[in-house]
Amino acid sequence: HEDETETGPGTGDGLVIDTSKPHPARMYDWYLGGKDNYPVDEEMGRQMVALEPRVPVMAKVNRAFMHRATRWLTEQGVRQFLDIGTGIPTEPNLHQVAQAIAPETRVVYCDNDPIVLAHAAALLRSTPEGVTEYLQADVRDPETIIEGARKVLDFTRPVALSLIALFHFIPDEDDAHGLVARLLDALPSGSYLVMTHATADFTPEESEKATAKLKSAGVTLALRSREEFTRFFDGLELVEPGIAVVHKWRPELGEPVPGQDDGVIPGYGAVGRKP
Ligand code: SAH
Repeated sequence: HEDETETGPGTGDGLVIDTSKPHPARMYDWYLGGKDNYPVDEEMGRQMVALEPRVPVMAKVNRAFMHRATRWLTEQGVRQFLDIGTGIPTEPNLHQVAQAIAPETRVVYCDNDPIVLAHAAALLRSTPEGVTEYLQADVRDPETIIEGARKVLDFTRPVALSLIALFHFIPDEDDAHGLVARLLDALPSGSYLVMTHATADFTPEESEKATAKLKSAGVTLALRSREEFTRFFDGLELVEPGIAVVHKWRPELGEPVPGQDDGVIPGYGAVGRKP
């Protein structure tokens, strides 16, 4: 990618890909070894890795959590997923994990970054028995997401709301906890909340430097403590093993990521059930 700007299919005003500053979706793609990123993302990615060499392992560990949690939820009988902050498609995507077990699974993906929209075709290759849909929307506007998702998901039946590696980009000023509560309000009993979230609990100094560096490039990072993360699950029943460091959540459901045990993984993951 050498262009200054690029527009994706179906993009209109306001959906121009801004390559003048780094974007989380594209940096994450770079950590995962993808090609859908720009020099500005790689440059900031390299600076992050210089501060915390384990960032690429953390990205893979996070992705592996998504696979395990999706598998577990599908095994519990969940057939509907609402995945917000989906990211640039990376195989296997959530619907591929779920539909491998239950082909009739229906998935609504959502992201606010135009680069995800530009690559959404890969998210729309559903099994014939199931459905996948992509919504371009911002999690800070939960009602628009629910309205859009209603066209594909049956909100009288359980839905897994998956917010994976998303809320550390949503500061308290945007009422992060209130947003999750509003999304959960729309879902029936038996629904689930699935989250991972970066924390400064284990690496306070590196985290502070990384947060400052990202801020200077226009990216907000809102790291949260274990207690602040746990509050997203207020009113829900946490499923075993409760709040866990990401790779310690039901490791038996997948393969370990090479290098995951060579140091700390500064992020939490959990799944909660709406009673
Ligand atoms: N969930 C994926 C990707 C995580 S990267 C995974 O875990 O593998 C975080 C994603 O959240 C990026 O794609 C970014 O574009 C998206 N994001 C950040 N802020 C958002 C917002 N306000 N609304 C919707 N998506 C957002």
